[in-house]
Amino acid sequence: MKTIGLIGGMSWESTVTYYQIINETIKRELGGLHSAKILLYSVDFDEIEKYQAAGDWDKSADILSDVAIKLEKAGADFIVICTNTMHKIAPQMSERISIPIIHIAEATADKLKEQGITTVGLLGTKYTMTQDFYKAKLIEAGINVLIPNDEDVKIVNSIIYNELCLGNIRKESKDSYLTIIKKLEDAGAQGVILGCTEIGLLIQQEETDLPVFDTTIIHAEKAALLSID
Ligand code: GLU
Repeated sequence: MKTIGLIGGMSWESTVTYYQIINETIKRELGGLHSAKILLYSVDFDEIEKYQAAGDWDKSADILSDVAIKLEKAGADFIVICTNTMHKIAPQMSERISIPIIHIAEATADKLKEQGITTVGLLGTKYTMTQDFYKAKLIEAGINVLIPNDEDVKIVNSIIYNELCLGNIRKESKDSYLTIIKKLEDAGAQGVILGCTEIGLLIQQEETDLPVFDTTIIHAEKAALLSID
């Protein structure tokens, strides 16, 4: 079994889900008392979020690269960054380590293709929805990406940082997300990507007819399966 190097804490609320899904997948696949070999380095998200807000992505790249180097030295066979947004700096991190980073958007694109989805709605932080680093991976895979309008981008982003990353799950916010998902469906989306690792704490498949692609589950399952490949 390979050792998974998790970079978590962004936020820790969703890192908990990674730990659980990875172990549940190993149990499902191998049975008995099997569990995943995991090295987890959990960062202080306050520091990372301040660099995001300041646009200082190079500083976060330095911090997360140092973490990745530590995980590689400790014996990780590959790296899993437990957030969509921080994949913005995955290319810089890759240059500084010799083990692979399992990219969350690539894992998601593979899942969408498996299900024959060609147009998808994307929910995530404002960085993930409006910048190119994430959408480019989907577009490269031949998938057309729809994002919410400017006002809805602000609502989705604010709920992530001011509620979900703090473990605050509110009915009003769930309703706002479901309304925005309906708008994406009306605009032609055949599915919606929960492209922020905390959104699955708020929205589940049962609450919408539109197929939901939860990046936390997709990424964690892929990591678990790779570790026993
Ligand atoms: N976990 C979130 C994501 O998947 C947001 C936190 C962050 O900015 O890293 O993008």
